[in-house]
Formats: sequence, C-alpha cells, structure tokens
Amino acid sequence: MDKKTDKVFDCIILGGGPAGLSSALYCARANLKTAIVDISTLGGTPFNYCEIENYLGFNKIEGSELCEKFEQHVDNFNIEKFPFEEIQSVDLVSAIKKIKTLDKELLAKTVIIATGAKAKKLGVKGELENIGKGVSYCAVCDGAFYKDKVTAVVGGGNSALEEALYLTRFAKKVYLIHRRDKFRADEIIQKRVLDNKKIELILNSTIEEIIADKKVKEIRIKNVLSNKTTTLKTDGVFPYIGLEPNVEQFIAQVEQDKQGFIKTDCAMKTSVEGVFAIGDVRNTPLRQVITAVSDGAIAGVEASKYIINQKEAVVK
Ligand code: NAP
Repeated sequence: MDKKTDKVFDCIILGGGPAGLSSALYCARANLKTAIVDISTLGGTPFNYCEIENYLGFNKIEGSELCEKFEQHVDNFNIEKFPFEEIQSVDLVSAIKKIKTLDKELLAKTVIIATGAKAKKLGVKGELENIGKGVSYCAVCDGAFYKDKVTAVVGGGNSALEEALYLTRFAKKVYLIHRRDKFRADEIIQKRVLDNKKIELILNSTIEEIIADKKVKEIRIKNVLSNKTTTLKTDGVFPYIGLEPNVEQFIAQVEQDKQGFIKTDCAMKTSVEGVFAIGDVRNTPLRQVITAVSDGAIAGVEASKYIINQKEAVVK
C-alpha cells in the first residue's frame, strides 16, 4: 500500500549523483523544502570512476572520495533523503507533481530530474548472457578479478581509454578495440594509452560475438575495412561505447531528443513547467562531473525562482 502524505516538498530531486547533490545544496540554501530520491545510495556514477583529474581544485581525486565529499557537504543541510527507492511512475504535468515509488507517494511543487545515464550495450551474441562471467561495464568494480589475465575494452571515448589504462594495473594485457582509427578521447589520455606497453590497439574493428565456456574465453572480431573475422583469446570484455539516459519513467511527459536525452534550455527548464533536468540525463554537449554540478546549481536557483513566481501569482 502507498504511504501517502499531505506534505508537499518545494522540490524533489530524482537522482543523488553530483548533479542531484549540487541542486539539493542550492535548493536547501534557498530555504526550499527539499528531498532527494535515488534507486541506490547517493553519490552516483563517479563512484565507479577510478581517478578524476579534471575537477577544478583537485589535481587528482578518486571518484568515490569526491562523491563522499559531496555527500558530507549536503549533509550539513536539512534535506530529506530517500535512498534505495525505485521510482514506479511520475506525474510531472500537474501543478503538484507526484512521484510514486514501491511504497511511497511523494508530492512536490518542482522536480529536478538528475537520473543520469547508463552504459550502452554492444548488442552482440554472448554479451548479456555473460555479464558477471567475463562481461563487465565497470573496470573499477571488477578490474581486480583480472590479475595477470587478458582483457578487452571496446570504444574510443574517454571512458574506454581511461578504463583500459586502469585495467593495466591488474591485467597482463589489455586489447583496446575501436571501430575507427581515430579516438575521440582527450589527447592527454590518448598519449597515455599509446605509451602503455600493456595496451594493444585493435583498430577499425568491432566485436561480433563473445564466446564463453562457463566464463568468457574468446571474442570474434571483424575488421570493418577488410571484413575479415578473427578470434582473440580474452578473459574479460569491458564495453565502453557511450551512454543512454535513464528516462524510462519520464517518456511522453518531457520532451526528449532522438537518443532520449531530455531537452532543456540554458536554465535547465524542460518542456514542462516546474520540471528541470540536469547532468548526464539532459542533452548536454559535455558530460563531466564539473558540468553536472554546474547544471545542479542553475536548476536549484531556477526552482527557487519558479516557486517565488508561483507564490506571487497567487497573491495577485
Ligand atoms: P563517448 O564519448 O560517447 O564514446 C563512445 C565510444 O564508443 C566512441 O568512440 C564510439 O565510436 C564508440 N561506439 C559507440 N557505439 C559503438 C558500437 N555500437 N560499437 C562499437 N563502438 C561504439 O562515450 P564515453 O567514453 O562513455 O563518455 C561519455 C561521456 O562522459 C563523454 O562526454 C565523455 O567525455 C565523458 N567522460 C569524461 C571523462 C573525463 O573527463 N575524465 C571520463 C569518462 C567519460 P566513434 O568514436 O566511432 O563514434
């Protein structure tokens, strides 16, 4: 049964990653009755990043340490937290928005969507059935299982190259498989990869199949220029081929782009009044911790302005 409440929050933030925590800080400092709902613990995906070296003020910091600092900061304010709550449905369109989880119905005047994005799947035979048996989307979580083993990372962006470098701490060899011969990762990361003797580049190639016998043992790869197929022995496969937004509950309520990322203006406003989207879930040109927290600050201030305007409209 739903635990219904008459309490109406000024702002409910969906997602407790860097974007969500930053918006919570700004909402709380604007004296808004604020809540954060997250399917898991607070902290978000940077918990899974090994090292972050492009967050201003820190030369290098572990993703988990930075997230802990964010949480500790937010803990100084009166913010209600609802961790481990799976959102079942939302009504964003009504003046008072409703968020239903398995056992709660929460009400709010404004909602900030900060649900982030998840790893895209390769969509090849042997991928889904071997998750946990050699296929992983988190080098930081699983890298230590590959001590002196061989792994393959797929992708050419920052994530693939950074995680390939991370895996060299454990694995004796890391294949980096990319469908083109040019990477889109930052130049500085590309140089580190090229300088690392444990990483072997397999360019212009895609994975066609992941072959396992209880555990992953090899992959079939295709050279996209010659169409030639070969097999490669590997103990693990780490696809890092980009992100897709966590938007399942919001479909048809807020406007999204072709990939599903939520469209916003520069004030983080979505197509629905009183609803904002921030961080990786929105159609932003840059997905970094620093841009996520910046989005959060803007949305917190805009949510506060929205509530003041609503109050003034009622008085008039
Ligand atoms: P990304 O930048 O979108 O890169 C995805 C890579 O996967 C691309 O190289 C792409 O190839 C390849 N790819 C896409 N679909 C594929 C498929 N079906 N089969 C094979 N390869 C495929 O994604 P990301 O690296 O996960 O990064 C996501 C965002 O987070 C980016 O904005 C990134 O800058 C950011 N990020 C930043 C940091 C950092 O600043 N330290 C760290 C991690 C992530 P093409 O190049 O051919 O398109």
